[in-house]
This record gives sequence, C-alpha cells and structure tokens, in this order.
Amino acid sequence: MDAVNPATDEQLDSYEEHTEGEVDDALDRASDAFEEWRERPMRDRERLLSAAADTLRENKREYAETITREMGKPIDQAVAEVEKCAQGCDHYAEHASTYLSADHHPSPPGTTAKTVYEPLGPVLAVMPWNFPFWQVFRFAAPSLAAGNVGLLKHASNVPGCALAIESVFRDAGFPEGAFQSLLISSDRVDDILADDRVRAATVTGSGPAGSAVAATAGEHLKKTVLELGGSDPFVVLDDADVADAAETGAWARNKNGGQSCIAAKRFVVHTDVYDEFRRRFTDEVESFAVGDPMADDTDLGSQAKPDLLSDLHDQVTASVEAGATLVTGGEPLDREGAFYPPTILTDVPEGCPVDSEETFGPVAAVYEVADEASAVELANDTEFGLGASVWTADRDRGERVARRIDAGCVYVNQLVKSDPRVPFGGVGDSGYGRELAGDGIREFVNRKTVWVE
Ligand code: NDP
Repeated sequence: MDAVNPATDEQLDSYEEHTEGEVDDALDRASDAFEEWRERPMRDRERLLSAAADTLRENKREYAETITREMGKPIDQAVAEVEKCAQGCDHYAEHASTYLSADHHPSPPGTTAKTVYEPLGPVLAVMPWNFPFWQVFRFAAPSLAAGNVGLLKHASNVPGCALAIESVFRDAGFPEGAFQSLLISSDRVDDILADDRVRAATVTGSGPAGSAVAATAGEHLKKTVLELGGSDPFVVLDDADVADAAETGAWARNKNGGQSCIAAKRFVVHTDVYDEFRRRFTDEVESFAVGDPMADDTDLGSQAKPDLLSDLHDQVTASVEAGATLVTGGEPLDREGAFYPPTILTDVPEGCPVDSEETFGPVAAVYEVADEASAVELANDTEFGLGASVWTADRDRGERVARRIDAGCVYVNQLVKSDPRVPFGGVGDSGYGRELAGDGIREFVNRKTVWVE
C-alpha cells in the first residue's frame, strides 16, 4: 500500500499488506480481547477513553501532519479534526454509562422487566479517507465504550493514519486486540465479514462500498450501519441574513476541500435574495487561499486523490455542456498536485451531474426558486437524505421547513456538522442507522430483555 502526498505527488511510504495469517491472528486477538474487555467495569472503559483523549491532544500536531500529508487537507483543519476526536472520546467517557443504563418497562406487580445493553463482539469498520481520524473515532469511541472491540479496514490511501489510530489506543493503555488496523485491500473485506469471529460492520463511504458490505453482512446475518454520501441542500429563504448565509455557505461547501458527505452541495435560494446571495457567495469563495496544505493560512488544500479530482472535473464539464453557467473556477489548477479551485455553477439543468450526483469537492450548484414551497420541493429532489441547512430570520418558520425536508438532520441558520451530543446518519441513499449520542452507542449492542418473576 502506497501513501502518496496528493499535494506534491511525492510517495511518502510503502506498507506491506497484512497476510492471511496476520489477519487470522488479528481476529484471534480481537476475540480474546473481547472476552476480557466486555467484563471490564464501565468506569474502566470510560477511564481508558479519557486516556485516549489525552493521547490525541498531546500528539495532535503529529497526527494532523500525518492526515495532511496523506490526504491534503489544510493543517489547521487536520488539527481541529484530531481535537474533535478527543472531544468524542471525552463525550463517551462521560456519558456511556448513562446511555447504556437499563430501561425499565411496565410489568405486572411482583415482576421486573427491563432492557439491558450488552456488547456484540468484534466490529469491522470500513472507513474513508476524508476525515481519516474523525470517521474512525466516531465509530470507535462509542463502540469500545459499549464493550465491543474494533477492527479497522481503512481506505488504502491513508495507511499511516490507520496505524497512528491503532497506536492512540495502544498508548492510552487499551488491552492488546481491543482496536486493530488491518492493512488490506477492499476485495478481502468479504472473507473477514464471513468469519464467525466478526459480529457486525459499519461503513462510511460511497453507495457501492456500502451496498457491497451490507450484502455480504446480510448473507451472514450480521448487523450493519451505513453512513454514505449526500447531496445536501442549503436553503436560503427570502428573510434570511444573506451575508451570514453566504459566508457560512462558502465554508459549508469548501471545508475539507469540499470532500465531506455533509458538505452543502445544492444552494437553493429564494428569488428575492438570489442576486445578493450569488454575489456575496462568489466573493467569499474567491477569497479562499488555495495552496500548500501545510501552510497555516491555507483555506483549501489539494484534493485527496487525483482520480477523484478527475471525476469531479468530468461532473463539472458535463454539467456545463448540459447548459449550466460557470460563475467561477471550473479548471484544475495548473501546478503539481491535485488542486481544484472553488467552483460555482448556476442555471443548473435538471439531471446534469452536479444536480443529481454527489459532488465530492469544492463545486457548488446554485438554484433560484420562486417561493418556500419550491425550495422544499427542490431540496427533496434527490436520492440522498443526509443533512440540510435552512436560513431564515424566523426560527418557527425554520423549524417548519426543517420538518418538511427528507434528511437525517436539518440545521437552521447553521451549517450541518456531526457533534457527539446528537445522533448522526441519513435516509435513502445516504444509508441507515445512526452514529453518535445515545443512538450511536446502542447500534452495536444486544438489547436484551430481562424479565424476573
Ligand atoms: P469508497 O467508498 O470506495 O471507499 C471508502 C472505503 O470503502 C474504503 O476503505 C474502501 O477501501 C472501501 N471499499 C470500497 N469498495 C469496497 C467494497 N466493495 N467492499 C468493501 N470495502 C470497500 O470511496 P472512494 O474513496 O472511492 O470515493 C468515491 C466516492 O465515495 C466519493 O467521490 C464520494 O462521493 C463517496 N465518499 C463518501 C464518503 C462519506 O463520508 N460518506 C467518504 C469517502 C467517499 P479502499 O480504499 O481500499 O478501496
């Protein structure tokens, strides 16, 4: 497995894939670790998660540099990602026992009936490169707190991150086998899922990866959680604070190089504020500093993989050929590395790629709509259903519109973000199941009913 710096095209390192024997040993270690880990008192598990948070904070610059070198995001955003992982660990260190405390049910006099939450075993996590630490910790912190153990199959372009994450848990004092990274290609995932020692799987990534893993897991009757793509609408109503919407919207689209499932992708703007929004939004994205991701003042680094940059550019080109108007950007930068500028398209025809597909990079489609009803209709005109953002001065109206949008979460006057305190996940082609908060920790557990006469 080669790690290549997408900002310089330089090969960083080369890693040997784990052999079948090494994977088999890892599954044995995971099984053994599970038997011991599940019996640990919750306060021990919580203490170790706190230690993991400390390890992350102590080494955040080093981890951030590994992230930036392997996938090209600006270093300050990589540092923020590592800090968020520490917050995720802290959150479950503080709340896991509450989330998993038994639920009591009505029962006849003299009996007690309750649900208790018990771990399932080793869980396989198939993870992507876009937030190579956070996507993993979002799964690992609740799962480990619940008493499961983790096996990570990370994206092939971030092997250094995969090994660094394993070391976070080791250095924090987790028992051997509690969290292991498997350096394997995706065609070996099926065999691992079929193995009896693996009890469940979670995927964050593309639709094809999600459905491939879910199909195999289904064949073996194993639970899955899928967090897949999105084409999130960003709805600006006629009474919105347009300056705030344009500034926040520019970040909502371009943070992380635009490579986020919950990035705002389709900007649906009321006709009364359309011209002002388009002007301000264009000024904002044109002000972003694009360049060396290791520099502290960079807003947009390189895209993570040259092949995905070229897919993104194909989506833009085909949309312009179909009739969309290019307002800014639209050509890869003429320099080494996989750099694409912030790009805006208007007059977007229905069904062209930027309208109907997920755009995983700094490309915004901006639409003009006549009224609130058309805004909701257009927002819902997608196979995806991950997040949405609605902008209005009227909070009640914002909540009313939010309730009419088909998505796993809607943020009013804020960009969509994942936060350990609230559940995160989608509907439709964006997947199923929830991560984070109480819902997330209760995905990979046996909800066991205990009835005592
Ligand atoms: P993939 O979905 O291919 O990769 C995500 C993870 O899934 C990686 O670990 C990958 O391994 C693995 N994987 C891929 N195919 C399979 C399979 N058949 N069985 C088991 N595991 C598999 O994403 P890409 O990097 O190719 O990006 C393609 C598109 O996916 C993006 O343009 C974007 O639209 C979407 N995406 C969404 C993300 C999200 O946050 N929801 C994150 C990343 C991408 P390997 O790297 O070895 O192929």
